[in-house]
Amino acid sequence: MIVGVIADDFTGATDVASMLVRAGMRTVQVIGVPQAPLPRADAVVIALKSRTCPVPEAVEMSLQALAAFQAAGARQIYFKYCSTFDSTAQGNIGPVTDALMQALRAPITIACPAFPENGRTVFRGHLFVGDVLLSDSSMRAHPLTPMHDANLLRVLQPQTLQRVGLVPQPVVQQGPKAVEQALDQLRLQGIGIAVADAIGNQDLMTLAQACADLPLVTAGSGLALGLGPAYAQRGWFAPSAQADGLNAAHGTAALISGSCSQATQAQLLHWQNSGRPTLRVDPLAVHEGRQTLDQLKRQAVALLGQGPVLVHATADSATVQATQNRLGVEPAGQLTERTLAALAQTLVEAGVRKLVVAGGETSGAVTQALGVRQLHIGASICPGVPWTEGLWNDQVIWLALKSGNFGGPEFFTEALAQAGVAA
Ligand code: ADP
Repeated sequence: MIVGVIADDFTGATDVASMLVRAGMRTVQVIGVPQAPLPRADAVVIALKSRTCPVPEAVEMSLQALAAFQAAGARQIYFKYCSTFDSTAQGNIGPVTDALMQALRAPITIACPAFPENGRTVFRGHLFVGDVLLSDSSMRAHPLTPMHDANLLRVLQPQTLQRVGLVPQPVVQQGPKAVEQALDQLRLQGIGIAVADAIGNQDLMTLAQACADLPLVTAGSGLALGLGPAYAQRGWFAPSAQADGLNAAHGTAALISGSCSQATQAQLLHWQNSGRPTLRVDPLAVHEGRQTLDQLKRQAVALLGQGPVLVHATADSATVQATQNRLGVEPAGQLTERTLAALAQTLVEAGVRKLVVAGGETSGAVTQALGVRQLHIGASICPGVPWTEGLWNDQVIWLALKSGNFGGPEFFTEALAQAGVAA
């Protein structure tokens, strides 16, 4: 194993995994702290849910993931977080980095959320989202991790016991040697974590080249673009043109959506307007017994006879709010996730082997219900959303797990077309 990635959330794990595949690395995603020895692959990504949980839990889970990677002989550890540096005043980016560095006896590491292709750039330690500072972006109002400061040194310093420094872009621009020298100097000054600037892909390539020998890197998924070539240059692996090859899945196709994001609403509308089979789950009606699970299961299986069916709870914000007001936010979400996961299971029992799931939490619920613990990463449908291959009752099943905001209006039909399904 070349690299072991510890990702702090589920769809972020899939995102970085698809970047590693793009670099020609055979990549497997493992869901949750591994219960068994890790699979053989160039890269393994362990998907945790550690972004906003209490600090001790995040640290504990991350150290367990690290132990699994060490047992598998991974050459480098990559702590992956969001490209908007999602964290609270307590962490968890700082505390997890500290714990991993201590366990690895790493003298210095970088912090680099930059992902220029997606409009995330870091300059002089300041994170930009598109044209605006992080603190002026919609992340300012995030419900769990509101980001009020774009200065990453100021954001990170209170979260870590180590001193935080900077490798500024003019240094990065000079190439890998200059970055290595800057890191050496920072280390001599007693700095443990260096925020690394990057405003374009070339900067990420340079940083990856300079940091591929460090025991630990911490970054968004962008750095993965450069790490593949850096590992290959060291002769650690040969990039494979077939890294995204998946075993064939034999069966029908269906779609499940529990995301209510703007992007998913547009995708649902496009699907409905093209006259394709759709089944709406109304959590309020389920709660009141006007829709029963048995009924929904029968309807879903019947509609599957007409082609790929989209089963969804996707609704506009007023509808979601009304349901949440009646049931409470958490219970409404859980009831919806449980219902959709049960329907996914029924569809798979009815022969579905290619399943598109929209929504991060919904994806977690569906994979858990299906008992899928490992995903081999295939080709991307759109940036950050690859087809993946898992096992259900020892049979190959393909899953495309889409975080809410990803994909254009035609995402659902594009996903099916890429899987060779006529819809
Ligand atoms: P996203 O990736 O778009 O955030 P998630 O699946 O992570 O999507 O989160 C959406 C949440 O909203 C889930 O908990 C889901 O069960 C819930 N949900 C979906 N539809 C409804 C609805 N009609 N009413 C209330 N909650 C809903």
